[in-house]
Amino acid sequence: MRIAIIGGGAAGLAAAIGAARARTDDQDEIMILEKMDRVGRKILATGNGRCNISNEDMDVSHYHPDPAFVEKVFTQVTPADVLEFWESLGLELVSEEGRLYPASLQASAVLDALRAEAERLGVRTACETPVDQIVPGKKGFRLVSQGRDLGRFHRVIITAGGKASPQFGADGDGIKLAAGLHHGYAGLRPALVRLKCRNPYLKSLAGCKIQAGARLSISGHTVQTGAGEILFTAEGLSGPPILDLSREALAPGAEAVIHLNLEPGMREGECFWWLQQRCTRFSYMNLPAMLAGILNKRLIGPLLKSCGLGDIPCGSVSKPQVQKLARLLQDWEFPVIGDAGWREAQVTVGGVLTEEVDPATMESIKCPGIFWAGEVLNIDGDCGGYNLHWAAASGLLAGHTAALPNDKD
Ligand SMILES: Cc1cc2nc3c(=O)[nH]c(=O)nc-3n(C[C@H](O)[C@H](O)[C@H](O)COP(=O)(O)OP(=O)(O)OC[C@H]3O[C@@H](n4cnc5c(N)ncnc54)[C@H](O)[C@@H]3O)c2cc1C
Repeated sequence: MRIAIIGGGAAGLAAAIGAARARTDDQDEIMILEKMDRVGRKILATGNGRCNISNEDMDVSHYHPDPAFVEKVFTQVTPADVLEFWESLGLELVSEEGRLYPASLQASAVLDALRAEAERLGVRTACETPVDQIVPGKKGFRLVSQGRDLGRFHRVIITAGGKASPQFGADGDGIKLAAGLHHGYAGLRPALVRLKCRNPYLKSLAGCKIQAGARLSISGHTVQTGAGEILFTAEGLSGPPILDLSREALAPGAEAVIHLNLEPGMREGECFWWLQQRCTRFSYMNLPAMLAGILNKRLIGPLLKSCGLGDIPCGSVSKPQVQKLARLLQDWEFPVIGDAGWREAQVTVGGVLTEEVDPATMESIKCPGIFWAGEVLNIDGDCGGYNLHWAAASGLLAGHTAALPNDKD
């Protein structure tokens, strides 16, 4: 039997290893066909080069838009199975607040381990081989790369990724291949991406990092909240909580606003009384000096200007002015006007419809013999190791089942 894997990212490498470990005949050929000059380029960029590989909290609510599909996949390849898989490659994992990383904190260790195991198991790899056509035949599929016939394969696992960060290889080919096979797919849009926002003070705030709460409202209704490190950029907001909110903020037609809470530990009234007390106690100071004791200095000018205040003594600040400032500290609005684009996106929303794939095997319901795994599917996970975990779990399952002989062989 010949098995082709289109795309040598995390899902493709996991699929190749899964297939090689499950094959019943040593003569079965497993081949990764990779468009780039080397496999796994995206893995090297993950987790800021540290590769946040998984998470201790594997609740399927971290996956969208079809957590029930993910749950079914995770009953076949459980979160524990995936951790055992990494361990079987010689990788020890360490936890940082629930996020799992390789002990070396080096993404290259993950890629090296995947490549070494694939090689040890005799998986063949052809780089600079973009597959652009899959022609179904009587017994399997003929694959074509730039007009070149790559031969016939009994099974084809498509792990060509989505469209996020195309500089690492995946730029929407998976969806073109899906369309060629008459698969349905949900339209693609970027997620886990920096947001562009409207606020007159962004340029002066660019580069400033703070710990804050972040709330996303759509058409005035709160839809999601988060907290953590927020980064101001010249065009908008970034940082883990913002990346997590980006999925919903960028939904088509959404009138999205990010509300920053610089004092998330306090209730609304508490913040007002606290500021009022400080104004009384430090009445001899001017406002910026008083605020410098509680806020990042770079925020003070923009905040004061936003509520029409300036360099005035704390003793002369009126109650309504303190109220206005307190409200702003806990609800600083940044209307969303766009995103930083595909090159900066970490993940793709949309992809091959899960309704057309069997979650027990990852085999296409529309086109038996074709298997799907990873980001090419209409599944995306939150920030925190969920996407690499999905790539590994779905890849292992696809590889395992693709390698098992069936009646039609
Ligand atoms: C900067 C960045 C940081 C990230 N950090 C994290 C993190 O810390 N934790 C986490 O869980 N997730 C992270 N992600 C997301 C995660 O990396 C991806 O979801 C995951 O790698 C997807 O794996 P995949 O194998 O499905 O797709 P990809 O990794 O995109 O692999 C697809 C492969 O297919 C190849 N290919 C495409 N088309 C063809 C074709 N026609 N023929 C042959 N080959 C083709 C591509 O070149 C590529 O090698 C990050 C993503 C980015 C961009």
